[in-house]
Amino acid sequence: MTKNNNCYDDTKQPSLLTVEKTLELIKNGIKQIEKNQTQAIRDALGNTLAEDVISGINVPPHRNSAMDGYAIQSKDLENAGNIQLKVIGTSFAGAPFDGKVSKTECVRIMTGAMMPEGSDTVIMQEDTQRNDDIIEINNQHKAGQNVRHPGEDIQEGSVVLKAGKQISPADLGLLSSIGIAEVKTYCKPKIAFFSTGDELKSLGETLGPGDIYDSNRYTLHGMLKKMHVEIIDLGVIADDKALIQQTLEKAAQSADMILTSGGASVGEADYISEILAEIGQVNFWKIAMKPGKPLAFGHINQTPYFGLPGNPVSVMATCYLFVQPAIEYLKGQKEASHLSLKAKCLNKLKKSPGRTDFQRGILKQDENGELTVDTTGMQGSHILTSMSIANCFIVLPQQSGNIKEGEAVEVLPFNGIL
Ligand code: AMP
Ligand code: MG
Repeated sequence: MTKNNNCYDDTKQPSLLTVEKTLELIKNGIKQIEKNQTQAIRDALGNTLAEDVISGINVPPHRNSAMDGYAIQSKDLENAGNIQLKVIGTSFAGAPFDGKVSKTECVRIMTGAMMPEGSDTVIMQEDTQRNDDIIEINNQHKAGQNVRHPGEDIQEGSVVLKAGKQISPADLGLLSSIGIAEVKTYCKPKIAFFSTGDELKSLGETLGPGDIYDSNRYTLHGMLKKMHVEIIDLGVIADDKALIQQTLEKAAQSADMILTSGGASVGEADYISEILAEIGQVNFWKIAMKPGKPLAFGHINQTPYFGLPGNPVSVMATCYLFVQPAIEYLKGQKEASHLSLKAKCLNKLKKSPGRTDFQRGILKQDENGELTVDTTGMQGSHILTSMSIANCFIVLPQQSGNIKEGEAVEVLPFNGIL
């Protein structure tokens, strides 16, 4: 994201916080989970390593062939013209040839099979002609070719994965390649969340006049699921002060973080700020971003709390920009920044100075290899289809005005959680 060191918008609304400053304040307010456990590696997928993993072996553990072909002595390549070698045996992956290759000899070898003693080079099968137990090759081969060496991927004694790494599918492979069955990880944080609003109906209920279906609980469920956390879904809570207070207090006892959506603005039924003034230490911020201007952040007892906006796109944008890094911190993960790219904007975009826009876009590569981005159309914070169609945010800086067709813009491709 474009860096802006000025934390307050100095044009129209002096109290607006920048996205960067908001992130900094959030990070300062999160303490990582210390509880850890030893887990079978498959169960550890998505969890954070609590200690470095050191390899007790070399990978590959032995010299082996990168090709199906013939293992030879490279000295034989020094002869002029074509070379004839006698096939004295075969080395299979898992069933090595236990003799020795001498001058003018070779061993039939498969990919991954151990290099026989005396051999140092593999000639791929396609470059040989075989007659009974004799192969003929030319001398245009490089000494040492097609051989994988011990420790080429991982060296014995080296740190393979560092504490703070989120375990990925590749890491499961890496751990198993060094014979490690269990790892020490931080326990998954428990994230409790609920939606607020008298107008919200859950799936299966009938909509009355003025009602809508609750969608925020589902987008949050989806995003949290991809963040590999334990999910505590507390449902829809009506705009009832006592009920909201009760639910927040209960959540603070069992969860490592609480998220709510809606009820945090200044409408008549918006009780969250009133309740939090009594039971928490929470700041109500106005952030210089669109969508998602109001955001509450703080603590209820010791539990971090986010009061997300109510509008569906604002919930997703603020979860992506603020909750995701906060959860990474909670999980003890090292900072993973969003990938930012420049793309040619194929449309005119409306934008007024004062807030950073996170418009929804479709990022593509044109026939010349140039990155282009199309708008998804209407950009209201209630247009949830825009998030479904999009594969990136188009980030328009705080002070920027309208964008002309063909102008270069910054885009944030949706990462794994959107
Ligand atoms: P609020 O912040 O409670 O005033 O809500 C702002 C807007 O978001 C209103 O139009 C709400 O109806 C809508 N909204 C709030 N919560 C949800 C939800 N869980 N699902 C869908 N829309 C919501
Ligand atoms: Mg509401």
